[in-house]
Amino acid sequence: MSATQRSQRNAFSALALDRAPALRSDATALELARDASTSLYVVMLPDSMLWATPTGTGLALVPPDRLAQEQRASSTLLGRDTDGHAYFLCTSDEDPRFPGQALGLRSLAANAPAFDAGLAAYASALAHWQLHSRYCPSCGATTMHDEAGHRARCTSCSLPQFPRTDPAVIVLVEHDEAALLGRRPGWPDGRFSTLAGFVEPGESLEDAVRREIAEESGAQVTACEYHSSQPWPFPSSLMLGFTAQAASRQLGNGDGELAELRWLTRRDLRDGLNSGTLSLPPRFSVAFQLIHDWLERGTA
Ligand SMILES: [Zn+2]
Repeated sequence: MSATQRSQRNAFSALALDRAPALRSDATALELARDASTSLYVVMLPDSMLWATPTGTGLALVPPDRLAQEQRASSTLLGRDTDGHAYFLCTSDEDPRFPGQALGLRSLAANAPAFDAGLAAYASALAHWQLHSRYCPSCGATTMHDEAGHRARCTSCSLPQFPRTDPAVIVLVEHDEAALLGRRPGWPDGRFSTLAGFVEPGESLEDAVRREIAEESGAQVTACEYHSSQPWPFPSSLMLGFTAQAASRQLGNGDGELAELRWLTRRDLRDGLNSGTLSLPPRFSVAFQLIHDWLERGTA
């Protein structure tokens, strides 16, 4: 399986949407699209909640006539699908006049079709950035969002800001037939996942893999390979999945980010999952896919 295929399996990835960047700066076409009866709105509520269907199995996409004119006028263009629907994001302090319920992105991702989960992730990341780009990082003045919500421009010094994404590496470390998994403080007993951390300034992805693994576990990585990527808008990460080989199973003290570290063989992990003494991160995470793919690669 190629990295492209692996990434396509990851939740929030491979969103089948034309982001239509040319439409962002076409004021006339944008106004028409915002009011078109075929257009659909993702509604973002306070505390990063999304308006979902009454059953919670997808996004409740709200037509323009259920929204106030001001909400439409300040909405963010997300893009267009192949059926000609334009998708927008609008924020609202109260529930829209449309059947549905407020749901967090994690709950939605667990049950929604891939398109809805991807659209919700994209909308959530943009909404978070808009909320945190209201002031200019250079002079502190307020900003105005233009380009249909994709750029913030300082009202005083004109400095532009664009939506940011924070890269993080997430790594399944192997030695012979065992994988190194960790448990964070606060997680239930027996819940283990791959090790992860943010890429720092001046680092390649491979440098970040070596440093993060050494910091969190003391293990020395000798080689790593890219696996797949996943948008992870909690609130603005891009997870870059890797597999890596360790020089030995020797571990150090770590930096305290993890409560527990274990080298587990496939048999250890399968037995633990079957008996309920071990559990994994949610199926929609790249961490789950990294561990799942490693389990599938061998029987020992
Ligand atoms: Zn400024």
